[in-house]
Parts: sequence; structure tokens; C-alpha cells
Amino acid sequence: MKKISILGSGFSSLSAAAYLSAAGYEVTVYEKNAKPGGRARQLKSDGFTFDMGPTWYWMPDVFERFFADFGKLPSDYYTLIKLNPAYQVYFGENDSVLIEDSLDKIMDTFEGIEKGSSLKLQKFMTMARENYDIAIKDLVYRPGVSPLELITLETIQKLGQFASTISKEVRKLFTHNKLIQILEFPVLFLGAKPSQTPAFYSFMNQADFGLGTFHPTNGMYSVVEGMVKLAESLGVKFVYNAAVTAIHVQSSIATSITVNGEEIKTDIVLSGADYHHTESLLQPAYRMYSENYWNQKIFAPSSLLFYVGFDKKIENVCHHTLFFDVDFDLHAECIYDKPSWPEEPLFYASFPSKTDDSFAPKGHEAAVFLIPLAPGIKDTEIIRENYFKKIINRFEELTNQKIKDHVVFKSSFCVNDFVADYNSYKGNAYGMANTLFQTAFLRPKLKSKKVRNLYFTGQLTVPGPGVPPALISGKLVSELIQKHHSVIV
Ligand SMILES: Cc1cc2nc3c(=O)[nH]c(=O)nc-3n(C[C@H](O)[C@H](O)[C@H](O)COP(=O)(O)OP(=O)(O)OC[C@H]3O[C@@H](n4cnc5c(N)ncnc54)[C@H](O)[C@@H]3O)c2cc1C
Repeated sequence: MKKISILGSGFSSLSAAAYLSAAGYEVTVYEKNAKPGGRARQLKSDGFTFDMGPTWYWMPDVFERFFADFGKLPSDYYTLIKLNPAYQVYFGENDSVLIEDSLDKIMDTFEGIEKGSSLKLQKFMTMARENYDIAIKDLVYRPGVSPLELITLETIQKLGQFASTISKEVRKLFTHNKLIQILEFPVLFLGAKPSQTPAFYSFMNQADFGLGTFHPTNGMYSVVEGMVKLAESLGVKFVYNAAVTAIHVQSSIATSITVNGEEIKTDIVLSGADYHHTESLLQPAYRMYSENYWNQKIFAPSSLLFYVGFDKKIENVCHHTLFFDVDFDLHAECIYDKPSWPEEPLFYASFPSKTDDSFAPKGHEAAVFLIPLAPGIKDTEIIRENYFKKIINRFEELTNQKIKDHVVFKSSFCVNDFVADYNSYKGNAYGMANTLFQTAFLRPKLKSKKVRNLYFTGQLTVPGPGVPPALISGKLVSELIQKHHSVIV
């Protein structure tokens, strides 16, 4: 059996490992950290639990499709709760909008904010649903090898939507700023500004309003655990505390990797670690992309995160709460145009213990606060602390309560940690943005052009950032490997 060595145990690696082992390869996953899951690791301390990365479970159909490929259901591994409200958005003091769990209810909410907007939303969502069926059920399952993959009868009819942006389309239909911001929010998951994201990507609005927001009991990490369990049952071996420090190549073929000082022979190397880092493990002649290439790409944001435990329940917030009470454009400029710390940041807060008692002791609340930031900016303890004060003060004013003196646990995570823990390029959190010119065949490739048996997966390659795309990326790369390398040595 051919031996495949996989770098990293993020969602994309876990997905690829399961597919490749099921196909008959001998698969070993080498993870530099002590636990699997990559950016989706979990922090447990003082009776609190925090999902350190992803918290929004969107596109349940993608997870179902993944498990179905192995004759399984998500419910064989974890239980999903559909959140209602899905989330809450603050626009000012005691001024927030609740997004509920069905389009009908959301239409009523829209109508209450802007007369005539419910029918416009219905029209917008028809387009979003069609795009979801084209993109998420079909296009994203293509490997990004050729531009022809994107040319189908359906996409030809949608060409106008590739030329326009989400920002423009939303503004054509709605005038109230609250509605515009709510409709622009989902594409932020793709890592770029709505004004740089093609209108076709309104499939994210279908994920949001059409399909809804779910919480897996015990958190997103239960998805990681489920996938590890599945992979192990298929024969995958996991080695933790195992940083790969070199990929050795002879005559354009990767022959071995170095793990903790030991050289391990391998037939195929697949990396789910950040693409730029993986290439740094090769001699320069075998790298496909230059420093200049990476520098010119639009990266998805990094983040400043706070994992906070409170000794009381927090009021006037939902499981997912967004704070859009300051100027979005100014913050976006600090992320994409002039990398710097935003004067007044937008932020997101998650309170999983509102839904799931396993996250905090009784009468307590577990919270994650997230501020999106430009990758590569200066990160110090003092800056982090300043921003904690900034957002907690705003939080208290906006939600009308005192919480500062109730913090009993606090830990932060920012640019430097993304680099140290995940070998992330410039400390990016979500990989490379999905803009028109960084989509599909225009993204870094799944297969190396310089090393015949070296492959890549994850949020920097195809299809892009997010947990559902990571599952798909693992499937795509496993299909490419099966196409190019028989199982037998
Ligand atoms: C704060 C945050 C919030 C997010 N929120 C959401 C959300 O709500 N919903 C959503 O769908 N997505 C969200 N995302 C995005 C999503 O989490 C990622 O797109 C996805 O988890 C990336 O998976 P991956 O397999 O590409 O990479 P990773 O998870 O980064 O996995 C790469 C792995 O490689 C390991 N590694 C690196 N170098 C080496 C080496 N040399 N040797 C061995 N191992 C190595 C790393 O330790 C890591 O475990 C969020 C991400 C972050 C950071």
C-alpha cells in the first residue's frame, strides 16, 4: 500500500485522511500541536469551554454529504441544534435586530425596518438559492484545475453577477443601512470586502437566511472529534506533537519528511498546513509561489480573540451577537487598504453557554469576542488589553449592563499566536480571501507543479476559507491523488 503523510489535522486534512484511507492508502497524520482540529481547537479552563476558531455551523448539507460518503450521518457523531434567533445585530444603544430561524420571519423583520423590503428580500433570496444550488452543490466540488470548470449553462446565465458585487446588488434593492449591513455580513466569511465580492456569492445569504445557523452540542470541536473517530475507524494513524520541519525531494519526487528530527520515508505528501509555510519546508527550487506572489494576494483577516468566563449570565445578547454600531468602511479600510489597528472596531461575540450548558458552570457564561484585523500587524499584550477595554466598555453601553467586574477567566489569541500555533502566513485567521480573481483555478493549486507527489489542501487553496470548504477541499485533493497515484506501491 502506498504511504501518504499528511501535515496537519485541520478540517481539510481530516477530510482528506478519511477519503484516502477509505480508498486503500496507508495514511498517517502528523500534527504539530497536542490536539487535532487546527484552527478549530478547543480551550477548556476553570470549568469553561471555548471553541477557539469557528463557531458558526453553516451549510449543514455539506457536512451531511461528507459523512454520507462513508455511509454515515452527522448525527452518528454529534447532535445539532438549530438556533432561534440565529443571531442578533447591534446598531446602537439598546438598538438591535434579531435574525430568526425562517425566511418568513426574517421578511417580517425587514418589512418592519423598511417598507416594501420583504418582497425585495424574497426576490434577492430566489437569486441566492439558485446560486447556492449552482455553487455549493456543484462548482465547489471541482478541483480548480481549469477555467473551463466554471463554464456551465447555469454560470453563463449568471455572468452579470460575476461582473457586479454583493455591495452593489444589495444597494440596488435596499436603502436602510441596517438591512444593507445584515445582507452584506455573510460574505465576510469569504474573507474580502462585500464591495470586492462578486454578486454571485450571494449563495452565502442562502446559507444564512435560507438554511440557518446551527450549534453542535459540545461545540464545533465535536465535529473535529467525530471526523477523527471516523478517520481512525478507517485506519488513519494520528501522531501529535509532530511538527514536520522538512519535505525532502529527489528528482522532483518527495521521498521523505522530517518529523521531530526523524526522517520518515513516504510515497506521497499532502499538506493541510498553511500553503506558504509548507512551501518553506521545500528547497527553494521546488516552491511554486514566490514571496512576491503571496505578498500581492488579498488575505482574509486575522483576528484578536478573547476567551472570557463570567461569573454571571449576560443579558440582552444571543448565542451569536454582532456589533455593527460603528463605521464598517473605516474598519474594512484598516484590514484591507492600510493595515492598522482600527480606531473603533466592529466586533462579534459568541455566548455558547446560552444554548449549551456544557460550556460554563451553572449561572456562569462563556464568551468569545472577536475583532477582525489585518494580517501581519503589530501584536502586543498592551495593544490587546487596550482593545479588550474598548470593546467591553462599548458592550456595556450597548447592551445596558455591567460585566467588567464579573470576568473570572480571560485568555487572548492574536496575530502572533496564529503564527506560533499554526504556522499561519502573517497570522491570517481564515486563509486567502475568495475574490473574483482568487477563485477556483486562480487560487494556489491542490497539486504541486514542481514536485510530482506533493499535494495541498485547506483554506489557502480550493475552494477557500471556512469549515464546509475545508471538508470539500479534502475530498477534492483525495480525488486528485487517486487519479495520479495507484494505491499499490
Ligand atoms: C477565529 C476563527 C473563526 C472562524 N470562524 C468560522 C466559522 O464560524 N465558521 C466557519 O465555517 N469557519 C470559520 N473559520 C474558518 C475555519 O475555521 C477554517 O477555514 C478551517 O478550520 C481551516 O481548516 P484547514 O484544514 O484549512 O487549516 P487549519 O485548521 O489551520 O489546519 C492546519 C493544521 O496544520 C498544522 N500544522 C501547521 N504546520 C505544521 C507542520 N509543519 N507540521 C505539522 N502540522 C502543522 C496546524 O497546527 C493545524 O492544525 C474561522 C477561523 C478562525 C481562525
